[in-house]
Amino acid sequence: QDTTFQVSARVVPDLNVVLLCFLDITQVQQAGQMRRDFVANVSHELRTPLTALTGFIETLRGAARDDPAARDRFLDIMEGEAGRMNRLVGDLLSLSRVEDEERVRPREKVLIDDILLSVMRTLTPLAQEMEITLRESFSDTPTELVGDGDQLMQVFTNLIENAIKYGRKGGTVEIRIGQPERDPALRAMGVRIHVTDDGPGIDEKHLPRLTERFYRADNHRSRALGGTGLGLAIVKHIINRHRGRLRVESEPGKGSVFTVVLPTGAG
Ligand code: ADP
Repeated sequence: QDTTFQVSARVVPDLNVVLLCFLDITQVQQAGQMRRDFVANVSHELRTPLTALTGFIETLRGAARDDPAARDRFLDIMEGEAGRMNRLVGDLLSLSRVEDEERVRPREKVLIDDILLSVMRTLTPLAQEMEITLRESFSDTPTELVGDGDQLMQVFTNLIENAIKYGRKGGTVEIRIGQPERDPALRAMGVRIHVTDDGPGIDEKHLPRLTERFYRADNHRSRALGGTGLGLAIVKHIINRHRGRLRVESEPGKGSVFTVVLPTGAG
């Protein structure tokens, strides 16, 4: 990794010396580059549906004007493209909100079991559409922790929705709360929630980059399923805010396990 220095020189006549000041601006430059990349990515992601919309408007004005069947088909596609833009703007707003709130400690008492059940209820129609069985495996005593209920809902919505979307048709997605550890030291590390699918899995080379904004392991599938590429970036910021951890294990051909570890001690 290169290091960039900003160098300035000053002559001190009384002492007959020249002062050279080296300032390490590597991180400032990297932050600037990341910001430029982000803006370029957002512009590109918005331009794709916009170009499609403009093209279809032109076609509706011209060739498809007197063809009701074609008109309906094109309007459906346009609705889909507008939906894609809507999702992207929604995820960008969520990302900026969770980044803003990352330094503020969450204060609510929440029950993880209730959050997971509520997310599973919301995602049942999607699971049915993809012919996937949602299965839960919770421990006997509900798990309480201090957190932000809405944000934790978003974490598990994104993870379970991914497990369904990228899962195997006819397969199973399991949501499991780890049994409390006997060892007090391990128990103090917090509760582990595992979201497991039996889909195609993720190649090892992608794993370290999955939570980067707009990073997609399977670009084609993500776009076909209407993904924005921001879901796991949002997840990462929320988990950071909760001082938790996200672990991803995957075996291509067998499936993936996304594990969230959340501290259950004083929030
Ligand atoms: P997207 O909107 O593309 O789903 P995410 O940030 O939620 O964006 O996920 C990033 C990428 O990680 C996805 O594009 C997909 O390639 C991969 N991915 C996420 N979850 C899974 C999973 N359960 N199985 C396989 N691939 C997954």
